[in-house]
This record gives sequence, C-alpha cells and structure tokens, in this order.
Amino acid sequence: MSTTIPFARPWLTDEDRAAVDRVLQGHVLTHGPECEAFEHEFAEFLGDDVHCVTVSSCMAALHLAYLDLGIGPGDEVVVAAQTHVATAHAVEWVGARPVFADCDPATGNVTPQTIADAITTRTRAIGLVHFLGIPCDMDAIIDLAQAGGLPVVEDCALAVGARSAGRHVGTAGHVGTFSFYPVKHLTTAEGGMFVTRHADVAARVRRLRAFGVDRGHAERRTPGVYDVPTLGLNYRMSELQAALGRTQLGRAHEFLTRRRDNFERVREPLTEAGLRVLDAQDDSAESAHYALSAVLPGGAGGPRERIVEALAEAGVGTSLYYPHPVPRLSYYRDRYGYIDGFHPHAEEISDASVTLPVGPHLSDDDAERVAATVAALAEVHLGARA
Ligand SMILES: *Cc1c(COP(=O)(O)O)cnc(C)c1O
Repeated sequence: MSTTIPFARPWLTDEDRAAVDRVLQGHVLTHGPECEAFEHEFAEFLGDDVHCVTVSSCMAALHLAYLDLGIGPGDEVVVAAQTHVATAHAVEWVGARPVFADCDPATGNVTPQTIADAITTRTRAIGLVHFLGIPCDMDAIIDLAQAGGLPVVEDCALAVGARSAGRHVGTAGHVGTFSFYPVKHLTTAEGGMFVTRHADVAARVRRLRAFGVDRGHAERRTPGVYDVPTLGLNYRMSELQAALGRTQLGRAHEFLTRRRDNFERVREPLTEAGLRVLDAQDDSAESAHYALSAVLPGGAGGPRERIVEALAEAGVGTSLYYPHPVPRLSYYRDRYGYIDGFHPHAEEISDASVTLPVGPHLSDDDAERVAATVAALAEVHLGARA
C-alpha cells in the first residue's frame, strides 16, 4: 500500500535551515534584529499600517490582549464555541468568564446574530476565531461591536492570508493574534504574533511581554539600567524562531496558492456527493484554506467513524476540528455546566464533520489521491451519485 498522507506537516526547506544556522553562527539569540525584521515584514504582509509584536505563542498573544484591555473578574467576553481551547483559556486566565456564541453552519464562524445573543450587561469584549481560515464577516461584526463599545480580539491562528472585505484578518479588530505552531500556515516551531493598529497598545504589550521592563535593550543608555513600572511576563520569541518565520513568510503566497488548489480539488467530489463543505459564503471573503471540513449526514450517530477508518486504511490522514465545542470540554463543562443543544451548529460540526488535508505538503498526486479516495467512500457510505 502507498504511504499515508499526513493531515498536516511543516514545510521546511534548506532556505529555512540556513536562516536558523545563520543566527547560530552569531551571539544574539534573543532581543535582536531577526525579531524586529520579522515584525516589520509581517506588518507589511498584513497591510493597513498595523504594529506587530513577536511573542512565544498565539495563546500568549491572546493572554496579553485581555491583560492589556484590563478585563478581569466580574467581566464577560463573548467567545466562539467552535474554536481551539486557547481562544477561551485566555479569557479564563484573566479571571473573566467566556460566554459562548454558536456558529453559522455554512462557515463554522460566529455571526452578528450569534454574538448578539451572547451579549449581556457584563460583556467587555468579543473574542472570535476565523474558523479553519474562513474569515468572519468583519464589517458586520465591527459595526455591532462599535455600537456596543466592545473591542474585538481576532484569533487568526489558522488564517494567515484570509481577507474579509479586502482587509487581512486581524487588522479590523482591536487586536489580532497569529500562531506559528508547526502545522499552521507558517511555522517558527513555537511562536506567535500580536497585531494591532494602535501604537499605544503595541508599546504596552511590548513591555508586558518582557517582564514589564520599561525600555528595550537598544533604549538603555547605560547598559543594565532599567525600571519596572508594571507586572509582566516572559512571552518573547527567540532570534532562531524569528529567522525561521521570515523565510517561511517569504513563501507565504506559494503556501496559500497550493492550499487553495488542493482545497478545490478535494472539494469537488464532496460537493458532488451533496456534502456540506465549510467555506466562505460570499465573494468578498477570501479563505486561507487551512483544511477542508465536510459535514457528514446523521449527526453524532452518523457514519463518521466508519469513514475516518476507511480513509486511514486508504492512507489519508484526517483530523477533527474540533472534537468538542469548547464549552463541552470537561474544564468548561464542570465549571459552567453545559446543556446539550445549546450550540447546535457547533455541536453538529464537532460531532459529524471530518477534516481533510489540503496543506502544501501534498503533492499533486497526493491531492488527487485524497479527492479520489473521498469520492469512492462517499459512494459506498453515503450512497452518493459519483
Ligand atoms: C493553534 C491555535 C491556537 C494556539 O496557538 P499556539 O501558538 O499553539 O498557542 C489558538 N487558536 C487557534 C484557532 C489555533 O488553531
């Protein structure tokens, strides 16, 4: 049998390895020019004159966003129910309460309506995610947020390259956060980016990320002299990571084109079989195509397990995004209680969808194989007309 196509794999080249090695030939491993250059280059990639701050992870960026907003005990933040747990954990870590919003069944994203349903008098912010790289409708959400005076924190961990109404995600809200974990669009092994249009927010977060120290190394007239006016953390990115991020970012357009082509190829037999494939719903939204999620019929009692097994046997790796809506995970369920059926669309996606690989690690042959396998299985298990 042919080898298994993994669901995701970092795409590393000699250029990446040489960049890391160049840093290792010197003595500056942190607080250096690679992080600074990566911040500028990422800002240029996003556009809209944003400020970027390198951090140790997307989770760190989310934590910094809520710390800087001064959100805490007694406050609520509306959070997407269908997301990575980090989107909600960041709210928990500042002592506030996440109130979960359901999603649109066609995209997996929160909508102005589902957000509005979760807003109370204690709501202080909106924490959304661009699900699997499909952009939320940012114009409509920003209108709603501004009407309520609520800052929007955009979790863009799977959305490098996604645009809503022409703007890159992460630039319309108060803050955008990105992840460079190995299987995201770009990798720095571990790492993330904090993004904001507000220079004052970026300046405060730079300090918060480095112990609350009041000046960077370059700003110290006498070496070693500094003061600490605020509490802080160490959420910095290293120079090795930033060097890797820069060469990866240089290939972003190639990564995105391959993802889009693979997505279209795998999508075709699925939509022909009558399955719902989550995707952007209008022409002004550009997906980053992190992966392809197809919702199978029959909900929790449906054929998913059989299909995932058959795909594994045929050498096609899959994943589940996400195995539970966040409020149904034990920590949140135990803390806040959970009523089945309260987030019906998020539950359906968790219980009945299968997520297929479309990353740049797929060769053309791999993409054809995924599409052909999926088409054959759809015929056997779903009685689809192939
Ligand atoms: C991966 C991911 C995160 C966490 O990113 P880290 O960089 O590992 O902290 C957060 N949100 C979403 C949507 C993710 O996919």
